[in-house]
Amino acid sequence: MSKILIIEDEVAIADLEKDYLELSGFEVAMEHTGDRGLDRALAEDFDLIVLDLMLPGMDGFEVCRQIREKKDIPVIMVSAKKDDIDKIHGLGLGADDYMTKPFSPSELVARVKAHLSRYNRLVNTNQKTNDMIEIRGIRIDKTARRVYIDGEEKNFTTKEFDLLTFLAENPNHVFTKEELFREIWDMDSVGDIATVTVHIKKIREKIEGGSSKPQYIETIWGVGYRFKL
Ligand code: CA
Repeated sequence: MSKILIIEDEVAIADLEKDYLELSGFEVAMEHTGDRGLDRALAEDFDLIVLDLMLPGMDGFEVCRQIREKKDIPVIMVSAKKDDIDKIHGLGLGADDYMTKPFSPSELVARVKAHLSRYNRLVNTNQKTNDMIEIRGIRIDKTARRVYIDGEEKNFTTKEFDLLTFLAENPNHVFTKEELFREIWDMDSVGDIATVTVHIKKIREKIEGGSSKPQYIETIWGVGYRFKL
């Protein structure tokens, strides 16, 4: 169920918006000041925000600007003044849409649905384009060159990343240190096969959690290394 946050100081309007959105199957939260609305928007995972411009304390322009620094969820701005629309554009706040009061609640529901489906399409498309390898607790995002161990991101140097990815893409295959060195390092690069050993050690520290019995990269004595599937 999509979660929506309404930031609106006029309680009657906020209640009306909430009722209509809930009738359409959305989960709705409300805040009545800019400051509290911003705190809530940053602290919780909402799918869309309906943001009034004229608010006590921090106004909607500032709330929108600060939300945009952290989140890219759709923001629909609401204003009683038509002039504000130009201001929204001029400030480049990244609001996805704006509505001028008074508007019909069903118009709001229609816009919310349109923005959510467009946003979900974008998010899904992005996920598809990222090339991922997932083996047990390890997730390697080849597109973003990021590595997650049990959901937690770990920092890898370029060569550590290349080596881990190469081994994970060829699981259950034993590679000698010479083969790995040729595969990951340039032919004319300075270094020798001891470099491979050093990098394997560093990768293990990050993915094996300091365990003395490696779960992922096995040493095959006298031969080389293998990524266990
Ligand atoms: Ca207001």
